[in-house]
Formats: sequence, structure tokens, C-alpha cells
Amino acid sequence: MYPAVQLLIDGVWAPSAAGKTLEVVNPATGEAIGTVAHAEIPDLDRALAAAQKGFGVWRKMSAYDRSKIMRKAAEILRGRVDEIGTLMTMEQGKPFAEAKGEAAFSADIIEWFAEEARRAYGRVVPARAEGIYQLVLKEPVGPVAAFTPWNFPINQANRKICGALAAGCSIIVKGPEETPGSLAAYIQCWLDAGVPAGVINLVYGVPSVISEYLIPHTVIRKISFTGSTPVGKHLAALAGAHMKRATMELGGHAPAMVFDDADLDNAATILAANKFRNAGQVCVAPTRFLVQDAVHDSFLAKFVAKAEALKVGPGMEAGVTMGPLANARRVPAMEGLIADAVQKGATIATGGKRIGNVGNFFEPTVLTGVTPDMRVMNEEPFGPIALFARFGTLDDVITEANRLPFGLASYAYTSSHRTATLLGARVDVGMLSINHHGIALPEVPFGGIKDSGYGSEGGLEAIEAYLNTKLVTQSI
Ligand code: NAD
Repeated sequence: MYPAVQLLIDGVWAPSAAGKTLEVVNPATGEAIGTVAHAEIPDLDRALAAAQKGFGVWRKMSAYDRSKIMRKAAEILRGRVDEIGTLMTMEQGKPFAEAKGEAAFSADIIEWFAEEARRAYGRVVPARAEGIYQLVLKEPVGPVAAFTPWNFPINQANRKICGALAAGCSIIVKGPEETPGSLAAYIQCWLDAGVPAGVINLVYGVPSVISEYLIPHTVIRKISFTGSTPVGKHLAALAGAHMKRATMELGGHAPAMVFDDADLDNAATILAANKFRNAGQVCVAPTRFLVQDAVHDSFLAKFVAKAEALKVGPGMEAGVTMGPLANARRVPAMEGLIADAVQKGATIATGGKRIGNVGNFFEPTVLTGVTPDMRVMNEEPFGPIALFARFGTLDDVITEANRLPFGLASYAYTSSHRTATLLGARVDVGMLSINHHGIALPEVPFGGIKDSGYGSEGGLEAIEAYLNTKLVTQSI
């Protein structure tokens, strides 16, 4: 059964002070399945006080002890992937195997950050005179306000929680109102692992009300947001006005470049799996398939066959490989982008339509002959749409790859070492994965450039984002 999701403030789950709630809807049926508590200003004030208190406790705990609690949280989470995965599929729609995979992968991420929590080293810089010590200290930045979206209900919050806790910070997470239950169940794992009250707080509500209250607040020292570029720009401006450090993980429009010397079967298998995973609602999903002339038609045929082999349906049903879109507003968004592209000359190679009229199911879609004047070639589709265009030369494809203001992920398939090296040097992105899908592992940086944001949520950089650097120089 789906729970009545509550707020977590100072280690206690409770309804909002005013008792307000919002419905949670199953995207496979369109039916209400539960409720989530809506925080208002008095709740946020309590969360801020709790985060302040939690920070005082957590920063004083040794890195060794913090790491032990983090490892314990990972272990507990791993034991609850069925329960948490079920909630996630009910509220978000993704296939049960993907939901369980997200929970299990979050445990891997916690473990990696637990290890690195013990290595947030400073350094000693050699001085210009004997008897002087120049110490570079790393200190937690302070209580964090994190805003996380519905596409990966656990993972997006997990990366922020891990970075913050590894560095010694407390956090208030404003979770996704559409998919609150799995996140709450995941956070319970932290409580059961022994994380002190106030270190992690969880609120839901009206996103703009919460961000406009928390970001300027003096208690909050760091902001982290995952979501769309327009909202990210707004929140980054607010953070800037109040001189708060910020990490921004925003939209993408990833080019997937397939060269005529590529292993086409390998490329089709990996790219199709990553295009349609989570019904395409992934910021690093391959979107613009730029295929060299000589292999365009044969690669397209292989890719379309993969798209048509997907089984779309409710995520809890056995054999389903793609669920519904997570919320109803994404269906007209897909329809609008496809209609605009077709009207401007694109061809639908497969898919293109909503499936049935119950739930937010949409066909895996491939459009060919797309051109830069089409909306879908400029706006992030954030859905199961693959866009195919031809290219002739390396220069042409790099120009197209770099055309958009986004710069998050990109992919390339080629057997030429020279081509791979040139792409690595010239594609303007935060992440480039060549001949395999290697993005988003805990130990490597994860983040974008340009309109895709700044900062990283993976690798050492993800902890650095939650640390202040202090110089202490002393003479004996
Ligand atoms: P949206 O722009 O309304 O919201 C995106 C996210 O930002 C949601 O989680 C929302 O709760 C949050 N948000 C919105 N306004 C906010 C505010 N003022 N303060 C704090 N948080 C706020 O879009 P949507 O319809 O939910 O999703 C569609 C678009 O969002 C997609 O096209 C995609 O570009 C983007 N998105 C990106 C990611 C990602 O992983 N980068 C995840 C989800 C959505």
C-alpha cells in the first residue's frame, strides 16, 4: 500500500503544521494512490532550526564515525530495494527492475561517498621561512538546501545527501511532490542507520515558495538543484543575490554521434537502451542521433528494431521495459514537439502517438530528417523521442553537437582512435562517453557546462562542492 507521506523535521515524521496535503497519482492508471504533506513557512522554520542543530552535531562527529553511519545506511537500503522499488514504480511509473536498480545503485553511491568522507584532506603548503606552517583546512560549508526532481526520485536526492553528509553538512531536501514515497522510505534507511536528528530533513510543498524562503535564509549556506534550465537560472540568480554557493544540474540535449567505422550493433543496443530508459526522462539521455551518411539507413533500421521491441506498459507488469511518462503534462509536451517537427518536414520512422487513454503511455518514437529549425531540435524533449539526422564530416558533426546552449552529456561510436581523440578535445560538454555508456558512476564527475549548469555530483568534485577552504598560517 502507498503511504500518506509526511515531512521529516528534526528526526520526526509528521504532517505539516496546517495539515495540508496533495494527492499522489499513479501515472500508469491516472488514479490517486496516496497523499504527501505540504510544508508551509512555520514548517520550514522548524526545518531550518533542525538543520542548524543537526549541523552542529554532524560536523563535530569524526569522519570515521560519519563514514560508519553512511555505510550502514547503504546496507539497510540494499535490504529494502523491493519495498522502495515498489513505491517508486507506483508513483513514478518506471519498470520495477529499473526502480529496484535505482535503489541498489544509490546504495553503491552512498558507499563510495562513505569511503571518501574519510579522505576530505586539506594540505600543508611549504612556507617561505623556517617555523611557518601554512595549513589549508577543509571545513563543511554548512546547512544545505537541496531541490530534487521526480525522474529519479531517490538518486537525485541521494547524490546531494551523500556529498553533503560526507563533507559534514546537514541538509534540507525539498523532494518531488509527484514521487514522494520512495524518497521518504529511502531517507528512513538513514534514520535507521543512526544519522542524528536534524542532519537530514525532508519537506514537500509549493516549490517556488520553499526555494524563495530557504535560499535567502541565513541558516542555509549552499544550494543544490536538479531540474530544468529555466528554473535553474532563476534559483542560481537567487543564490547569487544572497552569495550562496550553488550546484546546478540542469537540462541536456545529448548528441549521439555514430561514425561510418562504428560497431553499429553495439551502438544501437547501448544507445537504444539509454534513450528509452525511464521513458527518456533522463537529463543525459541520447537525443540527437547524428549518423554519418554511409551508415545512416542501416543504423536507423537497427535502432528502430530496438525501439519496436520494447514492451510498454505498467511498470509492475512482468516483461515491461518502458513505463508511462511520469506526469500527465508530459504527454501533450511530446505531442506538441512531434507535431511541430512533422509539420516542418520530419518523418516518423516509428511511434509518434500516445498509447490508449488511461495512464501516460507513449510510443517509443523515432523521427528522421530532423532539422535545426524544429522545436524538438532545440528544446529538451525529456521523453521517448529519438531524433535522426545525417552528417558528412567530422567538422560538421562537431558543429551540430556544439550548436545548442546545452552542454551536459554526449556520446560517440567510432573505431578510429583519431576521431575519438578529436571529439574529446572539441565537443563542448561536461561528459563524453565513447563506444560504451560510462556516465554517472559514483567515482567519476557528473555535471554540465553552459546552460546545463555548473558543479559536479560525482567523483571528488562532488564533495569539494560542500567544503569551504580555510587558510591558517602560523609561526612558532
Ligand atoms: P519544471 O521546470 O516545472 O520543474 C522541474 C523541477 O524543478 C521539478 O522538480 C520542480 O519541482 C522544480 N521546480 C520548479 N520550479 C521551482 C522553483 N521555483 N523552486 C524550486 N524548485 C522548482 O518542469 P517539469 O514539468 O517538472 O519537468 C520538465 C522539465 O524539467 C524537463 O523538460 C527537463 O528539462 C527538466 N527536468 C530535468 C531533470 C534533470 O534530471 N536534470 C529532472 C526533472 C526535470
